Amino acid sequence: MNRESQSEIYFGKVKAVISAYKKLDSIGLNRGASGNISMKTHNGFLITPSGLNVEKMSVNNIVELSFDGVPLKGTNPSSEWRLHAEIYKRKKGVGAVVHTHSNFACALSSLRENLPAFHYMVAVGGGKNVRCCEYAIFGSQDLADKVVEALEGRMACLMANHGLVCCGKELEHAIFLAEELEALCKQYLTARSIGGVKILSDSEMELVIEKFKNYGYATEK
Ligand code: 13P
Ligand code: ZN
Repeated sequence: MNRESQSEIYFGKVKAVISAYKKLDSIGLNRGASGNISMKTHNGFLITPSGLNVEKMSVNNIVELSFDGVPLKGTNPSSEWRLHAEIYKRKKGVGAVVHTHSNFACALSSLRENLPAFHYMVAVGGGKNVRCCEYAIFGSQDLADKVVEALEGRMACLMANHGLVCCGKELEHAIFLAEELEALCKQYLTARSIGGVKILSDSEMELVIEKFKNYGYATEK
């Protein structure tokens, strides 16, 4: 591939990261400078900058890092770059990672509980539940390790007292998961506030997971 088309692909990815970050803000899944997004490149990954309000974000603010965190382009990567790097290093087939502070995911994460199989769509996360990892301070290697552990066999997890992480083969899939899981957290907390939630059994969820293998987005793992 020649240099011109390589740089076209690179800038296409930069623009996709920015528009995804703006979309999360516009649909209320993030606000201000909360959350972050990354996408794999030829040499490492692109990531949104640290602490920059979404309204001020432009192509020049997106940083490219190697998987060891060496800046390849730009400065000031998201404080969560270790979390994104660790996912790419340890989970096969992930092309993009989305982290949100969306309201209902944060609320459930503050209970430090997994999202159980109260609805069959929980299987879009890759399994019978969406785990909540243990608490660790934002931006730490400890948090990155705990998130990767909670992502074992899954494409998403909650982060205790913090938020949500979603992975996708493509950015579009990671964004889809973030939207879907936020809705599921809202539905679960609403039902739970009334009481008496019935959870699907392991065998019922196994059938869903099997059926999802041939069903749209859910197959993109
Ligand atoms: P950054 O602005 O550094 O990406 O931090 C936001 C965040 O969500 C930290 O967990
Ligand atoms: Zn965060």
